Amino acid sequence: MKRPDHKTPLPSLRAIPAVEKILQSLGAMDLPRPAVVAVVRRELGALREEKTIPEFSAVLARVHSALDDLRRAKIQPVINGTGVILHTNLGRAPLSGAVVETLASVAANYNNLEFNLATGERGERAAYLEHNLALLCGAEAATVTNNCAAALVLILRHFTAGGRKQVVISRGELVQIGGGFRIPEVLEASGAQLREVGTTNKTSLGDYAKAINHKTAMILKVHRSNFFMGGFVEEPATEELAALARRKRVPFVEDLGSGATIAIEKVAAIEHEPTPAEVLKRGVDLVCFSGDKLLGGPQAGIIVGRRTRIAALKREPFFRALRCDKLILAALQTTLDAYLSGSADADLSESSKRKLPTPVLEMLAVSSEDLRLRAEKIIAVLNGLPIKAAIGEGKAQLGGGTMPCSAIPSVTIDLQPTGLALSEFAARLRRATSPVIGHISGNRFKLDLRTVFPRQDGELIEGILSAVRLASP
Ligand SMILES: *Cc1c(COP(=O)(O)O)cnc(C)c1O
Repeated sequence: MKRPDHKTPLPSLRAIPAVEKILQSLGAMDLPRPAVVAVVRRELGALREEKTIPEFSAVLARVHSALDDLRRAKIQPVINGTGVILHTNLGRAPLSGAVVETLASVAANYNNLEFNLATGERGERAAYLEHNLALLCGAEAATVTNNCAAALVLILRHFTAGGRKQVVISRGELVQIGGGFRIPEVLEASGAQLREVGTTNKTSLGDYAKAINHKTAMILKVHRSNFFMGGFVEEPATEELAALARRKRVPFVEDLGSGATIAIEKVAAIEHEPTPAEVLKRGVDLVCFSGDKLLGGPQAGIIVGRRTRIAALKREPFFRALRCDKLILAALQTTLDAYLSGSADADLSESSKRKLPTPVLEMLAVSSEDLRLRAEKIIAVLNGLPIKAAIGEGKAQLGGGTMPCSAIPSVTIDLQPTGLALSEFAARLRRATSPVIGHISGNRFKLDLRTVFPRQDGELIEGILSAVRLASP
């Protein structure tokens, strides 16, 4: 037992409760016992430091609150009412039912990951996936890594492994993507030397040509996925750069980032996004892009392009450190199957939108009229409760650092609870059984229905009801 500190007298002579006593009072918990014990110990330790010992019920409340925080940090489903389709904080692309089924069966069983069922011998990892990926992208060959950042690092390390270290890149493309991913830093971390050319707004073919010498390892083009430039701007056509690269015998790589493999402008009223197939046709040797952005699959980095280049990348010892897990490969395989068996670009018309290959594309395609009908139904349920609800106009976005100019007209539910601060209402929705994430704007709490699955409407209503009921005692 610790002696009370006489310099700062305690408000009472209460003792710090015993861990066991608190655990007993907590009762059955939905968290692993060692995790609960650790939290209890930490909170009691903090009380000891603070040298104030509240009543037992207050200690218990404090422990409960710490346990709630821990529980909420668990990865769990949430309802995305932000209208940002590829929300990096919310796990980017949700996967289709077919992908989930594949995951369940592959995860629960052994599988032929590296086993050739035809010969009964060791087989090639992801052979089917790579075959179909190349087909979808109009490429000679394809492979995958953990994410697009890893793909880029692999490519940079590979081409700068010899004496030639310089990577030629336009100053207009030295971008930052999301948190902590800056092209110049990734380059340097990969052992490459940055050889910037041109200016922020203008880079000419001549700028590239002048920079290429015996130290040049490759030319890199980075798709400006999360911002746009207008006005006094210039850059050479990809075809011209490709011709230059061929003439100078240096590899030419493009980091496409978002990677739409179909004509995205036919799915929703947004601008065209270059596809890997188009970029390869323009003469780029290798293209990399993300699996969980516009492609709408699991997190992965996809590399497509020349057969010899892909084969060489796969022989890199470092490739082993970046390879995907069987679950990712299985999920990606089913995602690609859905694209290949789906409708061709030419008939991505209204009638065939129902058969879109991924939830991401479905969310993009759904009409505002459909969203409005759902909004009306939800609002009808809230009638008579201490909350004002109205239908608003939303601007959904692709997000995830893709297509900054494309705002997709959407429908929001605008909520104003009576006698409850909006920030508190938002916090209660985040604490709901199915946490609901929206945003506050113009003194309303807004939920964009484009990113809420219709099957979640019931849970969404439940969440709002519970947040409001808490409000009225
Ligand atoms: C998003 C993005 C990346 C990073 O992709 P991850 O799959 O998240 O690693 C790289 N380059 C560009 C241009 C991007 O848009």
